[in-house]
Amino acid sequence: MASSPTVLMRLVASAYAVAEKSADIVRKVLYSGELKIIEKTGANDLQTLADRLVQKSICASLSKSFPKLTIIGEEDLPAEPVDDDLIESGQNSAILQKSCPDQYTSLKEEELVVWVDPLDGTKEYTEGLLDHVTVLIGIAYKGTAIAGVINQPFFNYQMGAGAVLGRTLWGVLGLGAFGFQLQEVPDGKRIITTTRSHSNKLVTSAVQAMDPHDVIKVGGAGNKIIQLVEGKASAYVFASLGCKKWDTCAPEAILHAVGGKLTDMHGNAYRYDADVKHMNSAGVLATLRDHQYYLSRVPQDVLQALPSD
Ligand code: AMP
Ligand code: MG
Ligand code: MG
Repeated sequence: MASSPTVLMRLVASAYAVAEKSADIVRKVLYSGELKIIEKTGANDLQTLADRLVQKSICASLSKSFPKLTIIGEEDLPAEPVDDDLIESGQNSAILQKSCPDQYTSLKEEELVVWVDPLDGTKEYTEGLLDHVTVLIGIAYKGTAIAGVINQPFFNYQMGAGAVLGRTLWGVLGLGAFGFQLQEVPDGKRIITTTRSHSNKLVTSAVQAMDPHDVIKVGGAGNKIIQLVEGKASAYVFASLGCKKWDTCAPEAILHAVGGKLTDMHGNAYRYDADVKHMNSAGVLATLRDHQYYLSRVPQDVLQALPSD
């Protein structure tokens, strides 16, 4: 008889299901036309009704099924009861049938930290750049991002009626990543993906120092990691403060599950323990291959301006 699923695989299966519910919320709020936008630290740091509802949905759903988890969400919301219709108690059955990697079979709920970005690419969401938007749920153990779910609610939205709208990507270290076709940029081609709405002089100087053949400016950390694993970009370069642990945990886990790498601009790993600083203050450098090349090109002034913790 097959053994029952481990805590980790049950958690990933639940995260997958609640990410799909989140995508419904993200679409519904958009179609309602009532985004109810709040500026957090400024005009480039927004929160919409969708960010708020999705965070409530994910946090309440996961803590109901896994009461001992530590869950850290991006949005600062008042502690109040969550409507029943925001709770998802389903689990993705295909994930429950996969084997848990040996090193994670005995993990306990209380040892796991979940990082939630309810809507990554909010600025782009408010501007109608809908395929930049993702929902991110990352799972960390002993400071390492070990599993992640990325939902892209508007995947295929320009394909017209008949195309299935939205998709979910997920991965676990030691098991692999699913929900997309892994592809690489053709050999030797340097295509850099970077921010479109949070740029500054350091960001552009680091991108130019990579000697790129092409630069793509898109919103969202989740979206940029999808570009890496689908062969649309060879490196994600963001030489600035601004990106937080909830932006990178799920994307890092999926990227690492297929052999890629996400570090700060010095090549140091970020940690995802419950008590870490939220800001990724030494920038983000992510690649599927050739991480060392990109690291070797980071200018000295960038390294000095963005020290590792
Ligand atoms: P971007 O590539 O600009 O879409 O940024 C990726 C993630 O980091 C998004 O969640 C942004 O909101 C966040 N981020 C990056 N820079 C900043 C900033 N200067 N202020 C607030 N959030 C930022
Ligand atoms: Mg984000
Ligand atoms: Mg967000």
